[in-house]
Amino acid sequence: MKSPLSSSKEKSGANSSANEAPLQYLYRSFLDAVSVGLWVSDNNGRVKFFNKSWLEFTGRTFEDEINHEWDGKEIHPEDLASCLEIYSNNFKAGTQFDHEYRLLRYDGESRWVHEFVNPYFAEDNSHAGFVGTCIDITERKEAILLANQQLREKNKDLQQFAYVASHDLQEPLRKIQSFGELIKTRFGDDVPLQALDYINRMDKAASRMRVLIDDLLTFSRVSSRIKPFVKVELDKEVKGVISDLEVLLKDTQGKVNVDKLPVIDADPSQIRQLMLNIINNGLKYHRKDEPPVINISSRTIKASDITNPHHKQVEMVELNFSDNGIGFNEIYVDRIFEPFQRLHGRNEYEGTGIGLAICKKIIERHKGNITAKSSEGKGSEFILQLPLRQN
Ligand code: ADP
Repeated sequence: MKSPLSSSKEKSGANSSANEAPLQYLYRSFLDAVSVGLWVSDNNGRVKFFNKSWLEFTGRTFEDEINHEWDGKEIHPEDLASCLEIYSNNFKAGTQFDHEYRLLRYDGESRWVHEFVNPYFAEDNSHAGFVGTCIDITERKEAILLANQQLREKNKDLQQFAYVASHDLQEPLRKIQSFGELIKTRFGDDVPLQALDYINRMDKAASRMRVLIDDLLTFSRVSSRIKPFVKVELDKEVKGVISDLEVLLKDTQGKVNVDKLPVIDADPSQIRQLMLNIINNGLKYHRKDEPPVINISSRTIKASDITNPHHKQVEMVELNFSDNGIGFNEIYVDRIFEPFQRLHGRNEYEGTGIGLAICKKIIERHKGNITAKSSEGKGSEFILQLPLRQN
């Protein structure tokens, strides 16, 4: 389509005239050359300027557009209500804003745009109108929408798996264990000692499988049963976890020292699960000759010091859980956050290898980081970074 803007000197904007200075033509050529849609309106929403890209995309003519009050014809009907609200709120307040919507082409095709709108001011500093810039983000937006849909489908699969796991897989396990019990009670002394040993081992294996299924369920629910972020008092949550671990603390004669912890935006049940897994490990992997001591401290990291790829420029809290336990060889640090990866034998320390994978998933959902430092025989440190505020 031929742009009305480029067709004549007169049709080049609200203040255009045959005597326009060459510099203005230069500016105009420059603005027409960019593939970004540009528009300028006055305070009453009347269009005062637009570039070639804008007209080419909307298929409207110079006459259609110049000095006309904005009517929203070029906005996809499904996005119109939200756009109207955003425009009217910000136009009234005279504030800058940005938003995403589908820009409708004259032939019915629509493209996703990210529009940045800034107020501009007259010489006396009074608010004169707005300048809008529309960048085509269709490909990125469609990729995100597709990824979200795939995520929703995956979550559905996970939920289905969780349902099957909790019902269908637990049921045969219950049967195995109750038939074992039945043999022992019905046949009592008639059961040869070796058979009794086999039954007990079968029972233990079934119990382990039950724990594994429960852990897998917890792992799958991190993403399928999400609750909104609310203000979470970490102090309060850690106290709850310590009280849940009372028996283990008594058995191991362990101690947990906690510094003052902040309030963060988070999912409280997931934060509790996270701290439970880490403190539980600190107590479990203790040295035989020394009762476990876990120290929990926190510090705030300034936004400018943050290297988090997900969450740049957001203030974070760093939580440090250090223990005096058996430690591990630090070359395996990445491995321990993967499901089913264990560095210590099952005969020595019970476990399924899912606890830290759950922690990692929870941290990722909160857009944080988790890592650990350790050396064998010298204790471990688990370092968690979480945003203080979530968007
Ligand atoms: P689990 O404890 O069920 O094996 P986790 O996922 O919680 O599973 O931990 C993975 C592995 O990381 C553990 O098997 C253990 O080898 C190591 N580990 C975790 N926490 C500690 C710790 N505090 N001290 C020493 N090793 C640890």
